[in-house]
Amino acid sequence: MTAFVDDAVLTPDAVRDVFASARTSQRGWAATPVSERTAIVSRFATLLHQHRDEALDLIQEETGKNRASAMEEFTDTVLHAHHIARTAPSLLRERRHAGAFPVVTKTIERRVPKGVVGIITPWNYPLTLPVSDALPALVAGNAVVLKPDSQTPKTIAFALELMRAAGLPHDVMQLVHGPGAQLGEVIVEQSDFVMFTGSTRVGRILAEQCARRLIGFSAELGGKNPLLVLADADVSKAARGAVNASFSNSGQLCVSMERIYVHTAVWDEFVTEFVDRVKAMSLGAGTDWDADMGSMINEDQLNTVAEHVADAVGKGATLLAGGRARPDLGPLVYEPTVLTDVDPSMTVYAEETFGPVVSLYRVETDAEAVRLANDTEYGLNASVWSKNRGAEIARQVQAGTVNINEGYAATWASYGAPMGGMKASGLGRRHGSEGVLKYTEAQAIATQSVVPIAGPPQLGHHQWANVLTTAIHVLRILR
Ligand code: NAP
Repeated sequence: MTAFVDDAVLTPDAVRDVFASARTSQRGWAATPVSERTAIVSRFATLLHQHRDEALDLIQEETGKNRASAMEEFTDTVLHAHHIARTAPSLLRERRHAGAFPVVTKTIERRVPKGVVGIITPWNYPLTLPVSDALPALVAGNAVVLKPDSQTPKTIAFALELMRAAGLPHDVMQLVHGPGAQLGEVIVEQSDFVMFTGSTRVGRILAEQCARRLIGFSAELGGKNPLLVLADADVSKAARGAVNASFSNSGQLCVSMERIYVHTAVWDEFVTEFVDRVKAMSLGAGTDWDADMGSMINEDQLNTVAEHVADAVGKGATLLAGGRARPDLGPLVYEPTVLTDVDPSMTVYAEETFGPVVSLYRVETDAEAVRLANDTEYGLNASVWSKNRGAEIARQVQAGTVNINEGYAATWASYGAPMGGMKASGLGRRHGSEGVLKYTEAQAIATQSVVPIAGPPQLGHHQWANVLTTAIHVLRILR
């Protein structure tokens, strides 16, 4: 199956038309039983699984990432889709609550879809981010209008064809294409809820626009993620894990590591093994399975990486590995790069590079590692390597997800648990119950029978007050 991609840039008026048809179709979709909606998601997951190689080819074609990183994204998407299909019905079912008066007040909570959800996604994970944000919105009964990054329209178009082949009504999910700066405002204007993944800069713009309309907004934003190697870490495992955690998808992963704090007791051992492993990584721009790391997405991203490294080295940082573009291997390949002696005067110290660059810092104590890890405006993901103290240290780190003896995948793929950022790294969560329920309005319906809340008409205020006082007393004793 090859997707036909009509990625023509739309005018704001054309986007309004797309929202209008999504809104019309949403009514029928919301009336479709949840079991039918989740059955479509299950069939989609199975279809996607059957089209693995086409999906991997498209992801690689659009992003230049190595095949193993594309496979990571593909696997995540299939597993998450199955998870949503399995768990959404129980999350979305009506719940009974204790009523105002026992027995005579019957109270239920319903989950009502928001309506039409606008989703804006970046280029770095063109399959998993759009699909994984759209599916929970869809199973909750919403229509979705999604704007993928202009550089990566094909992968999500392919996935949407599979969703439609699985039974998703055509207008319930639609794509709109065009620069975010031109379409962002109309998407906010037409949406009942906005889900955004991308930079903190754009997240702030959209948050303001959504606030003006008083609509819900959820955002997964940037990070400057720390990895902590404690004195009791298994150093070899930590070094291997840190390579994957720093250089998966050439470091263009929101949860990947850009800062590594190593306890002085294991500094020499860790640095030697980590740097050896980084230098041994194979690079390549092909679609085979051999490369440990592939290309950057575009020249701008390559230049940002080169500028951050040049700035750091120019101000006295030491280059332990990498530090060069490799046009001989591919026009957008940059070596996995390890720096040390980095200080706050350097851009790479606090700014997200979003590329294959990681800085090593030697620390004297665990407390110093935690203090430096938290010394950032961001709070997306963190990783702690330790045989015995991981859980204790993890609780002190200000990040929405903390992985112990893993880089990022342990929390990310724990789909029942929330994933998202503290501080400037986000608002709200994907995954977990919030990942579905944020796309709904809670509605409480209470049915009062026998006795009205204000008391039976034959009793005066005083008598009713006495009845209530006695009832409260009895209820307290019974509890
Ligand atoms: P970006 O510039 O914020 O772009 C992301 C999306 O927003 C694209 O679709 C873009 O469209 C659109 N956009 C741009 N300006 C807009 C505006 N004024 N209004 C509405 N939409 C607008 O992000 P990026 O630099 O491409 O992506 C990398 C960033 O995303 C990094 O900071 C990374 O950490 C973050 N990220 C976070 C997560 C997470 O889960 N926390 C996951 C992945 C990435 P066009 O490009 O088509 O103009």
